[in-house]
Amino acid sequence: MAVTGKPAVLGGTALFAEGLPLTRVRVPEREELTRRLDTILTSGQLTDGSTVCELEEAAAAQLEVPYVVAVSNCTSGLMLALQAMGVNGSVAMPGFTFSATAHAAHWAGAAPVFAEVDPDTLTLDPADAAKLLAESGASALMATHVYGTPCRVEELAQVADDAGVPLLYDAAHALGSRRAGTPIGGFGAAEVFSLSPTKVVVAGEGGLIATRDEGLAQACRLGRGYGNPGDYDCVFPGLNARMSELHAALALVSLRGLPERVRTRTELVAAFATAIRDVPGVRLPVLAEGDVSTWKDLTLVIDPEPFGLDVPTLARALKAEGIDSRRYFHPPVHRQKAYAHLPARNLPVTDDIADRVLTLPLWSHMDPTTVTTLAEAVTRLHEHAAEVRSATGG
Ligand SMILES: *Cc1c(COP(=O)(O)O)cnc(C)c1O
Repeated sequence: MAVTGKPAVLGGTALFAEGLPLTRVRVPEREELTRRLDTILTSGQLTDGSTVCELEEAAAAQLEVPYVVAVSNCTSGLMLALQAMGVNGSVAMPGFTFSATAHAAHWAGAAPVFAEVDPDTLTLDPADAAKLLAESGASALMATHVYGTPCRVEELAQVADDAGVPLLYDAAHALGSRRAGTPIGGFGAAEVFSLSPTKVVVAGEGGLIATRDEGLAQACRLGRGYGNPGDYDCVFPGLNARMSELHAALALVSLRGLPERVRTRTELVAAFATAIRDVPGVRLPVLAEGDVSTWKDLTLVIDPEPFGLDVPTLARALKAEGIDSRRYFHPPVHRQKAYAHLPARNLPVTDDIADRVLTLPLWSHMDPTTVTTLAEAVTRLHEHAAEVRSATGG
């Protein structure tokens, strides 16, 4: 694509003068939601009611798993699942993930230890995970379906099996993803989804624990209500991690139409990929043939050498075009202040990837022309890279 016009950072006209946020939430079935909220408010049952049950059943059917436990958010869901697995000592996980993956281990009473990701898919590297499990004697393995890209679940299952530890997925991004046709949700001991507003299905705040393990589901169900089996003689120290009926109502209407939203996102990302295919030094995470990603995020991996700009400079130049962006996940978790006290393990692939990722705006109802204009912004910044560098000192 030959692009005319100077980038805004060089004094040209901004492509999105009105601004393009990272995400836009839309709740399409407003009437049904209002009706549901009305029913809940009239009943007076604001928590522990039938809407949460209905959500759990709908999600279980969609995910093709026997048990779904709705919780207040993904972080509390991960904490409860780890507690139910009986973790202690340490939990192995990728350094390239959202901080909550590690925080959940901490709150479940275990220290996070970090492994590399595969530089193509940006998901946990099974070989390095195996090495870390052997080195650390970690009590569980966690993996994240980063941006919705399914992990290499078959290899990770083998790695966890060989080490004799349970495998938990942080599936915050992956509600609607599929591995070789099978919905994400049924892999490992459990998978935990997030329904926070930046995700593809939203509840305001919320999470879903999906599992095939009845005992684990039972423990999480107890755990989300303090560990109280009903007689106030708590059997273990649980949390209040219940989802309210009001949040469940929003989640239910948001869950509907998910496959269609995932299809639209796939088309939008494909259009973007086509539009930037001739721009050197910019690529998307690799999705295995036959897999489906939610494309929770439209994240670019930038190679500053052929592209011409490093990520901070690109982000600044996009801002001048009105385009919001985020460095998901920079710094990677093992570099964050919260974990500075932990023994350092060298993660050169993770450090390199974290330096080179940049997430651009994407939402399910985004206009296709917005996506091509986004690609145009990236293309023209590449074409003017030398001028942009000298103008910004980048
Ligand atoms: C959003 C997110 C979480 C946390 O989800 P909450 O519902 O906000 O607790 C955990 N892990 C990843 C990878 C996320 O992106």
